[in-house]
Amino acid sequence: MNTTTLALNPRPNPVSRALPVLLAMEDDAEDVGRLAPDDRLTCHVHGRWIHQCVASPLHVNPVTRHRWCRSCATALTVSVDELSGAVTMSCPRCGRGESAASTRLIAACRASLAAARGRSVTASRQSAA
Ligand SMILES: [Zn+2]
Ligand SMILES: [Zn+2]
Repeated sequence: MNTTTLALNPRPNPVSRALPVLLAMEDDAEDVGRLAPDDRLTCHVHGRWIHQCVASPLHVNPVTRHRWCRSCATALTVSVDELSGAVTMSCPRCGRGESAASTRLIAACRASLAAARGRSVTASRQSAA
């Protein structure tokens, strides 16, 4: 008997079971083309929620401009507030650096934050079925 009660749990690591399950689901969905890599809430490279590893240099991509300021040729700095759910990215040089890819990445991080807290994952997904 293992009921998950995550409400008001202040611990920084509230999820031990949902993550691997969702990770596998997203891998499958991505493989069959039903999920865009940008929309993933989990990271198959790091095996974590996307908001937990988005600050890694691996998530910087000058080609697609994920976390990349083209004007300054600089990686954007990520700030994730797990309490408030706020996710921001900005260029350490010009303070801006927005791109469509980064905006999408921020949206995925917000969704993964919410999912990690035990809220509905499906809320932010469009149901293709
Ligand atoms: Zn990652
Ligand atoms: Zn910049």
